[in-house]
Amino acid sequence: MSNQLIVALSKGRILDETLPLLADAGITPIEDLHKSRKLLFDTNLPDVKFVVIRATDVPTYVQLGAADLGVAGKDVLLEHGAEGLYEPLDLDIARCKLMTAGVTGEPPKLARRRVATKFVNIARRYYAEQGIQADVIKLYGAMELAPLMNLADEIVDIVDTGNTLRANGMEPRELIAPISTRLVANKAAMTMKHARIKPLLARLEQAVAKRKTISPAD
Ligand code: AMP
Repeated sequence: MSNQLIVALSKGRILDETLPLLADAGITPIEDLHKSRKLLFDTNLPDVKFVVIRATDVPTYVQLGAADLGVAGKDVLLEHGAEGLYEPLDLDIARCKLMTAGVTGEPPKLARRRVATKFVNIARRYYAEQGIQADVIKLYGAMELAPLMNLADEIVDIVDTGNTLRANGMEPRELIAPISTRLVANKAAMTMKHARIKPLLARLEQAVAKRKTISPAD
């Protein structure tokens, strides 16, 4: 195991909120992540590098030790299973909810339901726990379209303001899990690189707490 610390960051909306927290904790990339096509970046700290990858790949990188630390949404971690990972810190960003949703005003179907989602593992687990028979259909996007097109009776999706659902004639129903972005760590790295990771964790924790006092309503 090298002395480098590799941090896997999720591309997209989470990245924009993660970078200020990392900066607050003393780590900044030496070039603009958004302007480069590179995937591996040096930082101001000679022993820390960032990899910027798809959110769904972050748990795999960290679990298998290709990255020591990672930043990923709880939705991604729940869907992945994320065994073999530590989750030492809730970064308290990109808060939203994982919910079931259906056509506005239509009562949930009592017979076997068809459920469209990109979170097939979470959905299967949730409906099984509820004792509801469900056929889960994997989609890669635009879940809200599925009930309108009679592809599914309901969906499992991320809800923030609920505007996307409303714009498509749907309403949120049951909360499956509150979601926020988490710092994850490879289990072996957490032991072997403890001396390097511990102070970084402490600084990140402070950065999260500082952000909370600045925008407590978040
Ligand atoms: P909204 O219309 O505000 O309820 O936002 C819902 C859509 O935005 C969902 O379909 C998600 O794709 C996306 N979204 C909102 N918040 C997040 C988040 N924290 N993480 C990932 N996707 C999100």
